[in-house]
Amino acid sequence: MDRLIYLDNAATTKTAPEVVEAMIPYFTENYGNPSSVYSFASKNKDAVTEQREIIARALGAQTNEIYFTAGGSESDNWALKATAEAYEAKGKHIITTKIEHHAILHTGEYLEKRGFEVTYLDVDEKGRVRPEDVEAAIRPDTILISVMFANNEIGTIEPIKEIGQIARRHGVLFHTDAVQAFGQIPINVDEYCIDMLSASGHKLNGPKGIGFLYIRKGVKIRSFVHGGAQERKRRAGTENVPGIIGLGKAVERAVASMAERSAKETRLRDYLIGRVLEEIPYCRLNGDAKDRLPNNANFSFQFIEGESLLIMLDMKGICASSGSACTSGSLDPSHVLLAIGLPHEIAHGSLRLTLGEETTKEDIDYVVDNLKEIVARLRDMSPLYEDFVKKNNR
Ligand SMILES: *Cc1c(COP(=O)(O)O)cnc(C)c1O
Repeated sequence: MDRLIYLDNAATTKTAPEVVEAMIPYFTENYGNPSSVYSFASKNKDAVTEQREIIARALGAQTNEIYFTAGGSESDNWALKATAEAYEAKGKHIITTKIEHHAILHTGEYLEKRGFEVTYLDVDEKGRVRPEDVEAAIRPDTILISVMFANNEIGTIEPIKEIGQIARRHGVLFHTDAVQAFGQIPINVDEYCIDMLSASGHKLNGPKGIGFLYIRKGVKIRSFVHGGAQERKRRAGTENVPGIIGLGKAVERAVASMAERSAKETRLRDYLIGRVLEEIPYCRLNGDAKDRLPNNANFSFQFIEGESLLIMLDMKGICASSGSACTSGSLDPSHVLLAIGLPHEIAHGSLRLTLGEETTKEDIDYVVDNLKEIVARLRDMSPLYEDFVKKNNR
């Protein structure tokens, strides 16, 4: 078996060869500390600034509103914890949703233990947050609303513009975890009234361990890492120069190819969804059919365990996921699938396939052909399915 079909791009992506190429000189030759005075090193400061400009342009932001971090989780932690600290005199209430990434949910729990109150909003059966629910949850002591741009498991794109406008109207800060959306769909922080935005390099064909937090000018947010004066004294530590260069390159690529890539991925995604729903019985699509990330398909197969499905797909060289990478390994079904109202037994039989820029129609055909066979085989071994067939044949 040599074939490897990677359909887990929501977990991470392949670092693009041009990205790696752009990074290498910053390990081998240009290794100077950007804070040093001599030109050998200080030119790295300029290189870092250039990447900040590329990212700012991609978001319609200003260069000095981009703060480099070690990735999406750090950006999410920073946005919540530092806002909580900086605005607690105004109030201690934060609004978020039940379908956020654990970097948000677990930070919310952390803050609850420290006297903050967090409202976790429900979503509808497509995984959509209702803007009117956001508005109804706002109180005089609400300091922050955090709603993800697009969900990492079911791909649903949230009504961010409406939510941003509501937050703005009520004078409440608005943060969005755009780790899955940035580089996939156009985002403008002014148009969407976004005050803070998290993104990560490795979800857009960039390196791991690098990301950024956009913080709108004027937002009072505290330093997250104390030490040197890097990142305008808000996040100390010698810059991860190769990572920042790689992130900038990845963003540049993603923006340049966005329209074409998203059209191609949407076509392949819809082809995949169409074939699966048509050819495999007792199966459903999770998330919204239209308002979804171009590369995301998420299905539930009745009478099947997602884990067994993953193992059998793996034997065919297919990399997929049954929930998010962080939830696999635990026996609880995904919090996102439960939030959209799936019963436990249906949620357990779920499969997430996320396409990448290299995915082809041949890959999709290979995957669907194998999936059909595997689902049929697993159902043949399932006592639940046997009972179901017996009842229905009567
Ligand atoms: C992957 C992911 C994160 C975490 O990003 P890391 O860079 O891996 O820390 C946060 N939020 C969402 C929606 C993600 O998909």
